[in-house]
Amino acid sequence: MQGHIDAGHFQVLGANLQIVIDGFGSFPIIANKVLLDEGLGTSNGTEAVKFDAEGWYPLERWLNALKRIGSEFGDYLLYQSGMTTPKNAVFPPTVTDIHSALKCIDIAYHMNHAVRGEAMFSPSTGEMREGIGHYAYSHTPGKNLVILECSTPYPCDFDQGIIIAMAQRFQPAARLTHDASKPCRKSGGLSCSYHVTW
Ligand SMILES: [Zn+2]
Repeated sequence: MQGHIDAGHFQVLGANLQIVIDGFGSFPIIANKVLLDEGLGTSNGTEAVKFDAEGWYPLERWLNALKRIGSEFGDYLLYQSGMTTPKNAVFPPTVTDIHSALKCIDIAYHMNHAVRGEAMFSPSTGEMREGIGHYAYSHTPGKNLVILECSTPYPCDFDQGIIIAMAQRFQPAARLTHDASKPCRKSGGLSCSYHVTW
């Protein structure tokens, strides 16, 4: 999807596949089809797609599934799917406010992705492996403004959903705007810059 990241080397944690099933809500047949068409999970034809929540799945297929959702069903569904991402996730006790929540996205992102079957962030050593981009946090003290620069291979609208959901856990009135003076991955840029205010 993105020129600078070769998704073929990486995997995504199976639990993330639930995002698409949740995102489609009362249309599970569509969610099933999108996942199965990309070779993600298995189905006996009548029930929801089965997948191993703790297994690793090819990132390239997952990105293709999301890309297809965007082009066939619209960016809003990607945004909605992004918003369900943090809903069921478990967060470390260090996540106590909007700042720690937004900082934590990059760590959670790396814990949910692997290179050759090995998670890209180790909570025990604190070591982070490179290769799939970042959700880079920056904050000017004294201002209720956080800037997140996203260089992941995920769709812009999907990342916006993740970020606003994380922000609103602690600041229900938080808002997100796309910095229009910066590039956007939708128009071929390598990253997107978002302003979160509250
Ligand atoms: Zn963008």
